[in-house]
Amino acid sequence: MTTKDATEALMRAERHGPKFDTVEEERLHRKQRLAAAFRLFGRFGFDEGVAGHITARDPERLDHFWVNPFGMNFSHIRVSDLILVNDQGDVVEGDYGVNTAAFVIHSQVHAARPDVIAAAHAHSIYGKSWSALGRLLDPITQDVCAFYEDHALFDDYTGVVLDLEEGKRLAHALGEKKAVILRNHGLLTVGHSVDEAAWWFITMERSCQAQLLASAAGEPVLIDPEMAQLTASQVGSHVSGYVSFQPLYDRIVREQPDLLD
Ligand SMILES: [Zn+2]
Repeated sequence: MTTKDATEALMRAERHGPKFDTVEEERLHRKQRLAAAFRLFGRFGFDEGVAGHITARDPERLDHFWVNPFGMNFSHIRVSDLILVNDQGDVVEGDYGVNTAAFVIHSQVHAARPDVIAAAHAHSIYGKSWSALGRLLDPITQDVCAFYEDHALFDDYTGVVLDLEEGKRLAHALGEKKAVILRNHGLLTVGHSVDEAAWWFITMERSCQAQLLASAAGEPVLIDPEMAQLTASQVGSHVSGYVSFQPLYDRIVREQPDLLD
């Protein structure tokens, strides 16, 4: 079975874009995917102290988003721990505070990109290492072609992002793309689902690792532009991002079922 066939089979199995009868069901689904994404980020070591956030737009209050409680380890987050933040940065549901940088960055990304349901950012080691080079990723593997002509560079660094204007500049740098490398900082990815945003982050982090390894060992051979574009259409679509996350979701729910509490 080819990847395309497999993807179509998964879609036929209604694994892409489940339909919901009520907004409550849709909200719960997003929160479950969000809690699972945090557990995976913890599992992969993407946490760095209190840094990092993944957000999911509320399906009803479209200028509100669900996010991790400030100071809680990714590996401990359950559905019931997630907090809802409004467009002013106030926590309107949940018992914890919000990371100011999470509000400043994610509120501006969600505002600038109505199509985006979720955004992920963390200070993962390979992403931030690559970000220090101040350049885009090259098409050196099949997987990184998901980002071919579809990621941007925020070519500035002005300290911890605590100013809404800085959040706006960052969202502007992202533009209509699926990811942005924040120079001297790390990666940020977005998607039409939590699944997609989390998957792009995970595979982008690994792509940074791959290019750092290959570049340290020699001179990587680039995939030519025509093939990179073709591959991007195969591995870089919204559906592909969603589907790629499903085995990881299944894995983390089996390993850590309490995340659904
Ligand atoms: Zn950060």
